[in-house]
Amino acid sequence: MKHNITRRDFLNGSLLALGSFALPPISLSETLSPLKGNKIYPPGLTGMRGNRSKAIETAHKFGFERGNDWSKPPFAKEQDYDLIVVGGGISGLAAARFFQLQHGLDKRILILEEHDDFGGHARRNEFEVNSQTRVNYGGSQSMDSPNEYSKETLSLLDDLGVNLKLFDQAYDQSFFRKNDLRPVTYFNKSVFGQDKVVDYTFANMSSSMPGMPNAKLDLINAVKQMPLSKQTKQQLLRVYKESKSALDNVAYFGRFEYIEKTPYFDFLKQKHNVIDPQVLNLLRGFTVDDWGVGTDVLSVLEAVASGAPGANIQEIPFYGKYIKEYMSDDGEPYIHHFPDGNATIARALVAKMIPAVSNVCDIEKIVKAKFNYQQLDREGAKVKLRLNSTVLNVNPIKNGHQQTGVEVTYIQQGIAHRVRGKSCVLACYNMMIPHLVPQLPKRQKKALKKNIKIPVIYTSVMLNNWQSLYDGHIGAAHSPGNMHQTMLMDFPVSIGDYHSSAKPEQPQALTMIHTPLSEEFGIPPIEQFKQGQDRIMTTSFETIEQEIKEHLSGMLSPSGFDPERDINAITVNRWTHGFTYGGADLFDPDMEENAELGRQSFGRITIANSDSGASAFMDSAIDQAWRAVREIEFR
Ligand SMILES: Cc1cc2nc3c(=O)[nH]c(=O)nc-3n(C[C@H](O)[C@H](O)[C@H](O)COP(=O)(O)OP(=O)(O)OC[C@H]3O[C@@H](n4cnc5c(N)ncnc54)[C@H](O)[C@@H]3O)c2cc1C
Repeated sequence: MKHNITRRDFLNGSLLALGSFALPPISLSETLSPLKGNKIYPPGLTGMRGNRSKAIETAHKFGFERGNDWSKPPFAKEQDYDLIVVGGGISGLAAARFFQLQHGLDKRILILEEHDDFGGHARRNEFEVNSQTRVNYGGSQSMDSPNEYSKETLSLLDDLGVNLKLFDQAYDQSFFRKNDLRPVTYFNKSVFGQDKVVDYTFANMSSSMPGMPNAKLDLINAVKQMPLSKQTKQQLLRVYKESKSALDNVAYFGRFEYIEKTPYFDFLKQKHNVIDPQVLNLLRGFTVDDWGVGTDVLSVLEAVASGAPGANIQEIPFYGKYIKEYMSDDGEPYIHHFPDGNATIARALVAKMIPAVSNVCDIEKIVKAKFNYQQLDREGAKVKLRLNSTVLNVNPIKNGHQQTGVEVTYIQQGIAHRVRGKSCVLACYNMMIPHLVPQLPKRQKKALKKNIKIPVIYTSVMLNNWQSLYDGHIGAAHSPGNMHQTMLMDFPVSIGDYHSSAKPEQPQALTMIHTPLSEEFGIPPIEQFKQGQDRIMTTSFETIEQEIKEHLSGMLSPSGFDPERDINAITVNRWTHGFTYGGADLFDPDMEENAELGRQSFGRITIANSDSGASAFMDSAIDQAWRAVREIEFR
């Protein structure tokens, strides 16, 4: 989601397989549920998706346990490549395309991807509703602030035919207003004693959903309606009311240092006397969608600049004007959204490099194109994308001290194979690289291991109709008591022959977002991410489905919602390895330096992925791909 300044400025950092060897086969049935006969069409699979397969977990386990003990599995058919790319996310796909553009279209490229679909976080969710194809984004949502993209990222978008001006028309900024769909806060019965929708939002939704009108109530009237105790209401209002004077007794020229170094929760206690856990819980939620953590582990500067209340930081001496600039809208509306999110970019890259997959190359038509997955990995093709292939070892081939190539071992359908490349780009999760290339220097491995990803769930709920949202005047909701803290209606974007859902009786996708926070306040982010990864990995689809039904019923049944009638399908995109973590003021402020150390090339092995840019955005994935390809000593 777009937030005034946080996604780019803060997620980025801070302001300023043995001879003839076969492993015991692992059941991949969970991943490969055929749709029709043997034809698998991954975007159309519902249920638990994202980072999901037990087979991959098992393969990871082999990777962790065996290290580089992968003597010599047999060579795969067509074993030699100019480039082998590990990871078929945006970064891996972009690296393959940059390589083609720099070294020629005749080069042989193999992309190995452990999942049953390509795109990484840029994942497409597809549904058939009433004989119509509807799509949603399973992860990477929109191109955020493309005016700020590097020339390399823009050149790749240009190569794919992406015209950013297209979205001025494609995104219907009048949609939410026309239908009077507003942002609300939903308090549920199990936590707050009653189901209550309050026509108010603490967040600035118009920046993340352009054209969405403001909520009807002002803060004071909204708080009156909230199912909170008198004490909670008083403390909550106090934080807002006293924000002007909250820094008065901090030394005038020490205010920036204070807001940068003081934990937001300490500040709330010291300056606003907030001790009520419910108030702290409400104020914690301000940053979850954008940061993957709550305000309890952020500085005053980070929390308040992300929209949390309590201090007038825009008026502090000297730095205030810069903070104000960061906080003000950059004038670039958050409209650069394809109906399946950035999955369109991934699909366009694949269509460009492997034309047999789709006869559609036009970016405006690709959203409706059905891809032929059987063609991704065709014998004799220059570029091959091999799915369900987990790389376990990347071994430099040496001639004396000179690296002359790499041997890559991967496991597919439980069988280990080996391929050989003149060079290799590792565009996979950086924290896994030390297990793939154990020969890397110790310091580099330590840096790479620190890149723990932020876990998050993006659930696509396909509705048969959105009548109850229309009748309830709800376009987006924050739900402080629920597992999915955020609910968003689909973006009103029509591209080519694909039309957004214009009428309440038509099908429409909702995106529901869950960020697993630790139960205790103040747990360091990396520790929280590890806990959260375990938690979401062990939460069943049935539990999530149940939560969604109760959540939506509690919020929408007054306006006629019936989960059994209205929900058509649910796809849970569980990203245990979600956003790249860019660090925070109080914890891990060194993530950029860490990424730089981690991404050093190792002979003919270079490193990409958004992790290597310490930035959780698509353009970082592309920029890093470009750098990694430039670093290849190709002969
Ligand atoms: C929920 C979500 C929403 C987002 N929204 C936005 C947004 O709105 N705008 C924006 O700019 N950015 C957004 N981002 C961030 C952006 O999408 C990512 O930065 C970018 O897509 C990352 O691409 P990547 O290729 O670097 O990594 P990934 O997408 O993680 O791809 C890495 C790939 O490597 C594969 N892999 C890993 N290990 C192995 C192995 N051993 N063998 C083979 N394959 C392997 C993985 O399966 C994966 O497909 C979002 C991210 C998430 C998680």
